Amino acid sequence: MRVVVAGGAGFLGSHLCDRLLGEGEEVVCVDNFLTGRRSNVEHLLDRPGFDLIEQDVSEQVAVPGAVDAILQFASPASPLDYARYPIETLKAGAHGTLNTLDLARSKGARFLLASTSEVYGDPLVHPQEESYWGHVNPIGPRSMYDEAKRYAEALTTAYRNRHGIDTAIIRIFNTYGPRMRTDDGRAIPAFVSQALRGEPVTVAGDGMQTRSVCYVDDLVEGILRMLRSGLPGPVNLGNPHEMTIIDTARLVVELVGAEVPITFMPRPGDDPMVRRPDITRARQQLDWEPTIEVRDGLLRTIEWFAAELAARPVAGAGTATPGA
Ligand code: NAD
Ligand code: UDP
Repeated sequence: MRVVVAGGAGFLGSHLCDRLLGEGEEVVCVDNFLTGRRSNVEHLLDRPGFDLIEQDVSEQVAVPGAVDAILQFASPASPLDYARYPIETLKAGAHGTLNTLDLARSKGARFLLASTSEVYGDPLVHPQEESYWGHVNPIGPRSMYDEAKRYAEALTTAYRNRHGIDTAIIRIFNTYGPRMRTDDGRAIPAFVSQALRGEPVTVAGDGMQTRSVCYVDDLVEGILRMLRSGLPGPVNLGNPHEMTIIDTARLVVELVGAEVPITFMPRPGDDPMVRRPDITRARQQLDWEPTIEVRDGLLRTIEWFAAELAARPVAGAGTATPGA
């Protein structure tokens, strides 16, 4: 199988490239390095069956040769990143998804959209199951991301119904692990980097808001099962183990073994109060559920961040010049 991974130089995309190549598939990584890094896939450049194309999928997606599957992961994903790149985020969800769907149509490929738990917004139903329509502020500080993904889901559905494209939608819940940037801004990379540097750990609000965090290897397994299933979704993929943010911060500090205080900062606008996936559908349809305990996943992540901070004390963000 020859698979295009749009956003393949990012956190999740690069793990997908690794795993697909490891299973004998061919991979074309398409990325513009807006929030990802060439270094995430540098180790793959000499591998037979791997191609890297530097391309902004919001402008065009040109991939020569046969393609069997397309994974549309190209989009900023951290709240800090999408606030910094609001127009790029809307374009990636809208034009990027349109262009990758057109590629799927012209190649006769299966198309998988990386959607998000953010389509549920600040949810009024808990835990979130796929039938819930969500509670999203269309003009709020997260709207560029939430609405782009909701549009991308609608577009994917329209291509399936109108053009008969073989499509799949997954709704990914908070996932963490190696290769997140130290300056990414999401809770786990922030807490881990701060604790390793001996800096105070910054909790937003009183830290009583919850998230349910999934280790990247578990998520990648779920994504590949969905890809190979032929099912349309949407399917929630995430770990239902729910924790408050302050407990997550305390656990990171404990596992790093750091003597650092927890400090409090204002909570960002529209920050969801609770989040936990109902993964009944993934269990039943994909026979999938996470297997990696949060302590084990955090320890692996801490180990990687310690090496990263030693090698690169100043974080290397994306190299692309944003042009709205
Ligand atoms: P990331 O920022 O590390 O990866 C995104 C990648 O897409 C980066 O390499 C970036 O350079 C690339 N990209 C962005 N715009 C592009 C464009 N116009 N053209 C080409 N490449 C572009 O983020 P991530 O956490 O790996 O997220 C990947 C995908 O998964 C995103 O679509 C995100 O919405 C989705 N997702 C992630 C999570 C999570 O917890 N990590 C949760 C829900 C959804
Ligand atoms: N958060 C925090 N400190 C940080 C970064 C994030 O307390 O340094 C909080 C954030 O306000 C949110 C939760 O942690 O309540 C998860 O944030 P993240 O950015 O990881 O993901 P998302 O909000 O998209 O779920």
